[in-house]
Amino acid sequence: TSALVPYRRVLLKLSGEVFGGGKLGVDPNVVANIAAQIAEVVRGGVQVAAVVGGGNFFRGSELQQSGMDRARADYMGMLGTVMNCLALQDFLEKAGVDTRVQTAITMGQIAEPYIPRRAIRHLEKGRVVIFGAGSGMPYFSTDTVAAQRALEIGAEVLLKATSVDGVYDADPKRAPQARKFEQISFAECLRRELRVADATAFSLCMEHGLPIIVFNLLKDGNIARAVRGERIGTLVSA
Ligand code: UDP
Repeated sequence: TSALVPYRRVLLKLSGEVFGGGKLGVDPNVVANIAAQIAEVVRGGVQVAAVVGGGNFFRGSELQQSGMDRARADYMGMLGTVMNCLALQDFLEKAGVDTRVQTAITMGQIAEPYIPRRAIRHLEKGRVVIFGAGSGMPYFSTDTVAAQRALEIGAEVLLKATSVDGVYDADPKRAPQARKFEQISFAECLRRELRVADATAFSLCMEHGLPIIVFNLLKDGNIARAVRGERIGTLVSA
C-alpha cells in the first residue's frame, strides 16, 4: 500500500553461478541480459555499483577439497571474478553504459585499483562501477565484499541477485512446499537459521542496518523492479 520509493544508489551482488548459466565460463546471453537490465536502471538515473562473484570459475573451498592450499585457491577464485567483471563491462559498454572496473588486487592494465572516493565520483557521473577480485583477501566471500562495498560507498540497499526467487523457510529445491518470505527481519533469519548470505556478510548488514533484497536475476526486468522499490524476492531488514 505504501508508495514506491526508488533507490538512488544500489550495490548489486551478481553471483558467478548465474554468469556461467550453470556451467564453467561465461554465458554471453546471460551477461547480455544482465547488462541490458542494468542499462535500463542507469538510464533511469539510478547509481549502480556491482560486485561480481566467481563461482562459475573457481571456489576456494572446492579447490581446497581437491588438495590445494586454501589461500592460493582463494586467489584463483578472486581472479575468476575479474573475468566476469570484464565480461560485464564489455556488455554494458555495448549497451551504451559507461563503466569502470575496480579491483582489490592491482592489475593496472585492465582495471583501476579499488579507490572508494573515486568509485563514488564515477557513480555520480552515471558510470557503473564493477568491483572485482573480491576483497583481495583469502577466506572471504564476494557476499562479504558486497556488504562492505555497499557500506563504504553509501549504497542504500544490497541487491543480492541470484538464481533463487528469495528467502524460503526451507530449501525450495528439496522441499516443494517451502514458503517464500516477502519480508523478514535479520533477527528472524538468525532465529530460523536461514542462510541469506554467508555469516560475515549477514552480520555486517545487520550491524549497520543495510537492507538486503534477495531476488531472481534471471527474470527479465527484476533489477529495475527491485530498484523501483517493488516487492520482489525477499526484503531482509532490521
Ligand atoms: N574469494 C576470496 N576472497 C574474497 C572474495 C572471494 O578468497 O574476498 C574467493 C573464494 O575462493 C570464493 C571465490 O573467490 O570461493 C569466488 O567468489 P564467490 O564464491 O563468493 O562467488 P559466487 O558464489 O558469488 O559466484
